[in-house]
Amino acid sequence: CGVFGVWAPGLDVARLTYFGLKALQHRGQESAGIAVGDGGTVMVRKDLGLLDQVFSNADLSSLTGDLAIGHVRYGTAGAKSWESAQPHLSTINDVIIALAHNGTLVNTDELRRQLIDLGVSFMSSSDSEVATRLIGYFTQRTSHLREGIRKTMELVRGGYAMTLINEHALYAFRDPFGIRPLVLGRLPLECQKGDSSQCDAETSVGAEGWVVASETCALDIVGAEYVRDIRPGEILRISEEGLVSEQGVLAARESAECIFEQVYFARPDSIMAGKSVYACRYDMGRQLAHEAPVDADMVIGVPDSGLPPAEGYARESGIPFGEGLIKNRYVARTFIQPTQELRAMGVRMKLNPLRDNIAGKRLVVIDDSIVRGTTMVQLVKMLRQAGAAEVHVRINSPEVEWPCFYGIDTGMQKQLISANKSVDEICEYIGADSLAFLSVQGLLASLPKRGYCTACFTGVYPVAIPSSFGRDKFM
Ligand code: 5GP
Ligand code: SF4
Ligand code: MG
Repeated sequence: CGVFGVWAPGLDVARLTYFGLKALQHRGQESAGIAVGDGGTVMVRKDLGLLDQVFSNADLSSLTGDLAIGHVRYGTAGAKSWESAQPHLSTINDVIIALAHNGTLVNTDELRRQLIDLGVSFMSSSDSEVATRLIGYFTQRTSHLREGIRKTMELVRGGYAMTLINEHALYAFRDPFGIRPLVLGRLPLECQKGDSSQCDAETSVGAEGWVVASETCALDIVGAEYVRDIRPGEILRISEEGLVSEQGVLAARESAECIFEQVYFARPDSIMAGKSVYACRYDMGRQLAHEAPVDADMVIGVPDSGLPPAEGYARESGIPFGEGLIKNRYVARTFIQPTQELRAMGVRMKLNPLRDNIAGKRLVVIDDSIVRGTTMVQLVKMLRQAGAAEVHVRINSPEVEWPCFYGIDTGMQKQLISANKSVDEICEYIGADSLAFLSVQGLLASLPKRGYCTACFTGVYPVAIPSSFGRDKFM
């Protein structure tokens, strides 16, 4: 999912949120929602569908306020319903909050039961709603929203990056491992109002606006300047009183940022840990050329996430880079299709080979990952039909052998082709002439030095998975 938040009295916060979500649409296409706070109350509008299917110009105009949050939802195993769209709203007496969550919480079943016993009612089966209700419940009991968030962070386990508003303050907080990304940016308000001559720090003092978002590409689109990442375990509060930071829960000794963000999920123009995702992918391709060289005539990338590593592979190997596949921009991500047939069809709708570029050539084909194997089976077939002499598949990440429990739903372990077949067997299954994956060390060497979660590749889970949760994913 993608989350966004803005505190900027005097600006059109609903439209800023809309633009921010537009830049984050790749993080989720199943539902979209915006909540605004106007000093008196909190209003939410959300629905199933892409951002533009949910919000008309008139909808945005009716959402007026000083602060807002937004959410785009990633299609996961959970129910597709209006109720599970976000932001979630909780109203208990005079405590009203809206919350947007990216990630997955692994221990909410028990917490939900306890809340129900306390008389709290639920609208959906979503883990994010449990967090919302918990925060609402504790805030009502303690009369302090920050205390409500802190107590909730002590109870919930998993990966989360959350934005939250009440009538007048914006909060942003992140799990103690920093699994899901969340960045802080600053809006130069005077610039936003159209006078760039007043755009220096001095004149914007006292008239500040702040933005939080899953990725820096959402800061860029609203003209905000990157300030820093929200720290693991931190709670940030932004209001009239300025920006206040507090450690909600102790940060883990070593952070565990999701490494799949750089491999696949994030946009290439986003900057993570100080390095653009584009440069990370390019360097993965260079590593891959060292680890798995091959004699060939042309390197092609599978659009979009396979293009930067293909450039890197070409540069390092000396084999020319070329365009071999054209992507239809109007087809949403294939992964999200619910059935295998629809997914296979999705590949053909989405990618078409450039025949005259590839006919007769020995190709190196780079893609970011093989999860179920659906994409590669179709692709290799298409490339051969288009006349490729040889097809050598190179993947710029290690084998995905383990399910993710922290917010990237790669499905159950039995669906992961690498959990069930050897590299040679996969190569035969997809019909390639050769196949190789990047090593874990090669992947890490392409990224800034940080603590990363690599669980889907290594099975080393930073946050323990309760036995009651997701057992079926291991079957
Ligand atoms: P497969 O077809 O093997 O099941 O999935 C691999 C393809 O899906 C790759 O082309 C990759 O770019 C894409 N992919 C990998 N992980 C994800 C994901 O979490 N979500 C979506 N939407 N696509 C993914
Ligand atoms: Fe990211 Fe993989 Fe860890 Fe999930 S298991 S958080 S996809 S690195
Ligand atoms: Mg792809």
